Amino acid sequence: MKKAFKLLCLIITSIIIISSFLMVFTLNGFLTKFNFDPFNSEGVIDDIKNYELNMTSVVYVKNSDGNFVEYKRIHGEENRIWVNIDNVPQNLIDAVISIEDERFYSHSGVDWKRTVSAFANLVFHFWDVEQGGSTITQQLIKNITLDNEQNAGRKIREIFRAIAVEKQIDKRTILEAYLNTISLGNGICGVQVAANYYFNKDVSDLSLIECAAIAGITKNPSAYDPVYNPENNKERRNIVLSKMLELGEISKEEYDEAYDVDLNVDPSQRSNYESEINSYFIDALIDDVSNKVAEKYNCSVDEATMKLYNGGYKIYATLDPEIQDAMESIYTDPAYFRQTSKIDGSSIQSAMTILDYEGHIVGIVGGAGEKTTNRGLNRATDSPRQPGSTMKPLGVYAPAIDSGAITATTMIEDKAINGYFGPGKPGPYEWWGGYIGFMSIPKAIEKSANTIPCWILRDSLGIDASYDFCKNKIHLNHLTDNDQNLASLALGGCEYGITTTESAAAYAIFGNQGKYYKPTTFYKIEDRRGNLIAEGTDKGEQVIKPGTATIMNGLLQNVVYGAEGTGGGIAGYNRMRAYAKTGTSNDSNDLWMVAGTPYYVGSVWYGFDHNETIYNPAAAASVWRAVMSKVHSNMKFKQFELSKDVTVMTYCTESGRLAGKDCKNLATAQYLPGLDYAYCDGNHDAFLSAKQKEEKETKEKEEKEKKEQEEKEQRDKEEKEKENSSETSSETSSNTGQENNSP
Ligand SMILES: [Zn+2]
Repeated sequence: MKKAFKLLCLIITSIIIISSFLMVFTLNGFLTKFNFDPFNSEGVIDDIKNYELNMTSVVYVKNSDGNFVEYKRIHGEENRIWVNIDNVPQNLIDAVISIEDERFYSHSGVDWKRTVSAFANLVFHFWDVEQGGSTITQQLIKNITLDNEQNAGRKIREIFRAIAVEKQIDKRTILEAYLNTISLGNGICGVQVAANYYFNKDVSDLSLIECAAIAGITKNPSAYDPVYNPENNKERRNIVLSKMLELGEISKEEYDEAYDVDLNVDPSQRSNYESEINSYFIDALIDDVSNKVAEKYNCSVDEATMKLYNGGYKIYATLDPEIQDAMESIYTDPAYFRQTSKIDGSSIQSAMTILDYEGHIVGIVGGAGEKTTNRGLNRATDSPRQPGSTMKPLGVYAPAIDSGAITATTMIEDKAINGYFGPGKPGPYEWWGGYIGFMSIPKAIEKSANTIPCWILRDSLGIDASYDFCKNKIHLNHLTDNDQNLASLALGGCEYGITTTESAAAYAIFGNQGKYYKPTTFYKIEDRRGNLIAEGTDKGEQVIKPGTATIMNGLLQNVVYGAEGTGGGIAGYNRMRAYAKTGTSNDSNDLWMVAGTPYYVGSVWYGFDHNETIYNPAAAASVWRAVMSKVHSNMKFKQFELSKDVTVMTYCTESGRLAGKDCKNLATAQYLPGLDYAYCDGNHDAFLSAKQKEEKETKEKEEKEKKEQEEKEQRDKEEKEKENSSETSSETSSNTGQENNSP
């Protein structure tokens, strides 16, 4: 009786299902006429055809030979590497089909026998365990669409899509997509990553027992995990093997050899496949690439990041892993970051960006100490800070020399500007205290004078030209309209400031003959079929003349090697040269060292996240030096590639103008060719401040008195000698002769 009831129920259920499908098909025919696709079957078909499935993206970097090699696989929650079905062993294909969908080759997307049983069970609960009714095609659709609703509606959508998919896509393609998208525990998707993760093998090298083990995981990835639940997995793979034998996929001998045998799991490479803390570079790369992908596909940055994690992209990164390692080894060494805050106890922070001379970021660190989160605060890209005196060459000296507003030898008086701090309040102050009168540009840069760049900016260059240069030529993107003043553009007291990445990119123009390159973390991005998605590299823009860059390079080398240079702390990083500028913001809340070598330009910021005075004024230079010493330790000696487009001319050191006929104190310096330069008219006193004039007069008076005194002494001596001449004259002349002949 009970049996008859069951049969009746099955028949009724079948009738209901079949009539539902007839309705669905009729409806579909109706909707297709109006180009309406309620179940998005076409989208699913496209996804499978184009393989645009959720896949792991891979980052490549250049090795020492300049060839790209795999560096890192990046992924979100799912970890995938696509494998072509031709590389999947037949045993694995057979194992999966046997256990998941034995009629795979004969059904057309839906296994009606199983579907009807499953529906009947869903409605009448005949069996204790839920009977899985899904074919491989249906499971694939579920994986692609991430349609995980637990209701009959989803089942109907899935059935409908499966039939549509099988009409247009062949079995082998479906199978390939399936094998690459099945969830296999531990965040793994796809058989290739599973082979890597569990057996440290390529999928093509898997043995029968390993194939059975992987096929066995699918049903319940955590319960059948071969590592954590080896007994469950063994039980399950024995079922797989039995089914394979039953269907004639393996011989009795093969079966006997694999049945109930222990599995050899090789965990040695597992750490490569587990989620780990990424470097600051990878964080910056993900941000960078997400922005590009969002631009390309006109989607949100978050959507773009999801595409990046799961889109199977190939990303050719600019990273030099050795440089990144060198940076991280210094940034995790507490010796360089000793100070803790008196305000909140936090430890001192720092950021550093290193670029080559084409804007490629070769290393980046956005914080001091061990990195503990992914895509948290990256100070090298996210935290603009007041640049202090590192602003002077950018906001003033370079654009002023380039426009001819000043030359590299111009003399300017170091004196306060009336009203600098407001009505009746002259400024700015010099860090050494007091003002020292006329100074040449090289000395002003070497000593990091404050008034000189303010005078140039106010009287020669102009705020507008400076702001335009900073904002539009060297892309100091965090400058605001409120920064259009002397304090910001000449002395770096900006509203927000500059990041180390912006700073390094801007200073690169002094080492590459004046070209600005937008900093980037990647050369190019390709989709999994090798189509170019975006290029990260930039052709560069000539923002100052090659000659200006060369002159600035020399002036900034004085900061490192000049007698009064503020950047002497980095001089010994290597026997190669460097150009540099130091920076300190108000109350020593921020320290900077931006410096370029013949290979790279590096910018270091050092300070607290809040404003607090730093004790060690040499800290930023120490970090720069420590990192760059390591980076350059094995590099071939190289000199800066400088422009020949400069003219060396003789100038008068008293006026800073080209030497005139009355000038006695001469030197040579580099000038931009083709400009009209003033000659010194001999009026040297015009280049003396009142104080310097007074000093000069005092000095001259002293020298005169000294000279008179010496002359008097000489006369006295001569008179005395005359008195004694008869006795000593022959001896003296003989001595003089000997001296003249000595070497
Ligand atoms: Zn002169």
